[in-house]
Amino acid sequence: MHKIDKILIGTHNEGKFKEISDLLPLNVKKLSPKDLDIDSPKEDGKTFIENSELKANFFCNKSKLVTLSDDSGIEIECLNNQPGIFSARWAKEFGGFDNAMTEILKKIKQFEHNRKARFISSLTIQWPDGKKISEVGIIKGNISSKKGKNGFGYDPIFIPDGYSETFAEMDYKKKLLIDHRAVAYKKLFEKIKIYF
Ligand code: IMP
Repeated sequence: MHKIDKILIGTHNEGKFKEISDLLPLNVKKLSPKDLDIDSPKEDGKTFIENSELKANFFCNKSKLVTLSDDSGIEIECLNNQPGIFSARWAKEFGGFDNAMTEILKKIKQFEHNRKARFISSLTIQWPDGKKISEVGIIKGNISSKKGKNGFGYDPIFIPDGYSETFAEMDYKKKLLIDHRAVAYKKLFEKIKIYF
């Protein structure tokens, strides 16, 4: 069995890259697609799992390295679970995350009684021989007005259940240990720890 001493973290999102790097064992060398001059695949999957698998497959085939990819997003209950897999695309369409969050807060104004939301992450690890494993992590919470400066993406408008601060108000290390990626990673790590 080949031990993993080097891994490509298949994402161009800097926030995700940092979190996934910090979850992985310290002694593993972490590379980004930027380091290898690899662009992004077209994300045309219909689910988080389909998208994390297609990303892992794309980056793994291009790099010939063991690759770990994430597809994630936020589902807002009163918006019929939108933006979901389109979370990154909403930010692009509205001209950035700040505008997308303003738009979301406007859209949910009429649903005062329901602020429920959840972040989902699907993590897929793929080896160059085609073997792959995926795990999904979910963290439930509520949408808040924008608060906090830490983190990335939709962090300023999400308060996880059991906490009183948004992900963007939270200390980075605290979020790292509880968020959707951490939940998915813990499940995945149980299956792949023998390779480290
Ligand atoms: P994708 O997985 O590349 O399609 O992008 C997922 C989208 O959801 C991006 O716009 C992210 O910024 C956002 N997102 C995913 N995870 C988080 C998170 O932990 N905090 C805030 N936004 C996130």
